[in-house]
Amino acid sequence: MTRPTRFEEHQYLGDKRVQRVHDLDAATDACAVDELMASEKFAAFGPDTLAEAANRGYRPCRHCLPRAREEGAA
Ligand SMILES: [Zn+2]
Repeated sequence: MTRPTRFEEHQYLGDKRVQRVHDLDAATDACAVDELMASEKFAAFGPDTLAEAANRGYRPCRHCLPRAREEGAA
């Protein structure tokens, strides 16, 4: 899929509705990132890291961040 233009400088995109974070480099159709962008209920992180997303209570998406879930990184 193509990376949303507004997030071309970010790797991680959070969904505020479900407190889930996606990796835009690995996002799949199941992530529904396009729908998330359209909903405008998304969040960016600063710094743009999985650790920062976790600090803010976001859990890694099982579709694009399965390894992070296994390792308990978030
Ligand atoms: Zn995802």
